[in-house]
Amino acid sequence: MTSPKYRGFSRLVSCLQSRLLTLHRKKGEQITKGMASSQMSRDEALECTCCRHACHVLLYSETASQLFGRIPIRYIVLMQMRFDGLLGFPGGFVNPLEETLEEGLTRELLEELGVAVPVSKEDHVESCFSPPRSGTYSSSSRLILHFYVKKMEEEQIREIEKAAASTAADHGLEVLGMVRVPLYTTKSGGGLSCFLSHSFIGVARSQLMNSLLRLHLVSPGDLQEALRGSQRTHAESAQNLQAALKLTGEQP
Ligand code: AMP
Ligand code: MN
Repeated sequence: MTSPKYRGFSRLVSCLQSRLLTLHRKKGEQITKGMASSQMSRDEALECTCCRHACHVLLYSETASQLFGRIPIRYIVLMQMRFDGLLGFPGGFVNPLEETLEEGLTRELLEELGVAVPVSKEDHVESCFSPPRSGTYSSSSRLILHFYVKKMEEEQIREIEKAAASTAADHGLEVLGMVRVPLYTTKSGGGLSCFLSHSFIGVARSQLMNSLLRLHLVSPGDLQEALRGSQRTHAESAQNLQAALKLTGEQP
């Protein structure tokens, strides 16, 4: 059973996605049949042969470890600091004419994590159009994103983290480092709240939040509180950045 709060978040995300699809329609983009929102099934997405396709995955495990010996970490959720300074999920472009989506994703994971994590159709969560950059629609914005979630053992996650920083071909290049998502909130308000206030690629923040709710890794109430904290952090950051501009000699 999904809770009313989770349905509320989902509706908000779907609403944004429907708006995106409407804009695609206005531009005469090819729409696959039966799509009520920009969400589409894996098979429908593959019918769009003129679209580019990218696959990304959220890898996670349970953990019994505790921060400072008292704050339960509960789950390890992996994301990465990308070459562009944004947070995102491991994965990348795949070519469905040459490989299945899952084969392509596994190939990308080998490059980025140094481990060929096998991902299957059963791990697929959703496919949708990528939001366009800077609000403009061009043929390059016809990118379909396929999102997967895979649960692993803690030991496997630790091996991935080691390989990602040592043998992975993309380490220090396309991937600046793997990061864990803090799901807790500290007394001073740090943790998930601060993490969510960073900058994410495309819809990665929504993909993360939807997954946390869907997998019951965070309650809707805790997520809501964390997001309120993120908004406060953003306001403080804006002020800090304004002050920092003075360091560059810029006059207020
Ligand atoms: P990558 O090779 O991992 O950078 O991903 C392939 C394409 O997908 C690039 O154009 C990225 O900007 C885009 N991308 C990656 N992750 C996301 C995401 N979570 N939401 C939207 N676009 C993404
Ligand atoms: Mn990538």
